[in-house]
Amino acid sequence: MLTQRQAGQQTTLVRVGAARIGGGQPAVMAGPCAVESKEQLLAAACLVKAGGAQMLRGGAFKPRTSPYAFQGLEEEGLRLLAEAREETGLAVVTEVLEAAAVPVVAAYADMLQVGARNMQNFALLKALGKAGKPVLLKRGLSATIEEWLCAAEYILEAGNGQVVLCERGIRTFETHTRNTLDLGAVAAVKGLSHLPVIVDPSHGTGRRELVHPLALAALAAGADGVLIEVHPAPEEALCDGPQSLPPMEYLELMDDLRFYGRLRKRSRMAQLEKAV
Ligand code: PEP
Ligand code: MN
Repeated sequence: MLTQRQAGQQTTLVRVGAARIGGGQPAVMAGPCAVESKEQLLAAACLVKAGGAQMLRGGAFKPRTSPYAFQGLEEEGLRLLAEAREETGLAVVTEVLEAAAVPVVAAYADMLQVGARNMQNFALLKALGKAGKPVLLKRGLSATIEEWLCAAEYILEAGNGQVVLCERGIRTFETHTRNTLDLGAVAAVKGLSHLPVIVDPSHGTGRRELVHPLALAALAAGADGVLIEVHPAPEEALCDGPQSLPPMEYLELMDDLRFYGRLRKRSRMAQLEKAV
């Protein structure tokens, strides 16, 4: 299996514009669930940048459970994301829903996201193997670790080794949280595969008050980064407002993530010193 970590193999470094995922320091992608308007996106992008995240993530094509819910601004949303990149220098991560849309999304984005509901859309995975852009592969709502890694294998096998796995919570009997964030899977996958793994505590919990503790827990479990939903005014969000961090809470989280990153660097240096 191309996704399998061989003995002594380092984590694959994935390059997203100027950002890096898998290089040791926690990577952060943040932004609103959906691109809603130019004003909303630019306000979010400036906030994301001010907090120190390296990547702006927002949906232009939204996979919604109900066909009556906001479906996204589509190509206009892609243009706004590219404009936000121009303004801020942040790399852009956005979702692609179908194989036929890969060329247009790849023309605007620095990284293409496969949503949980599409994890086993094999035509899409094969097309992403030829997209020439890094891929963020979210774990399916009921996917086992093996099924998730097999989905990544499709992309690698089709020619694209720049894949990041994203744990975003799975369906369980629990109803208090939107999903159950499976941090055990993160630690397990870090051992099984050389691909970087990031965690999305926003969809993983559906509750903004749980995002901060679980983002820190994700790093402690070995994650290479986190995906955080933020919105300049979450109460007005067209999508996923209850799990989106407002500006101050996002900035506080980024402070703690930086602190954790420094701790991680220090413990790695201590390990290296012990080794010599
Ligand atoms: C999203 O990332 O906004 C999203 C729809 O997530 P998921 O595919 O994990 O449900
Ligand atoms: Mn969302």
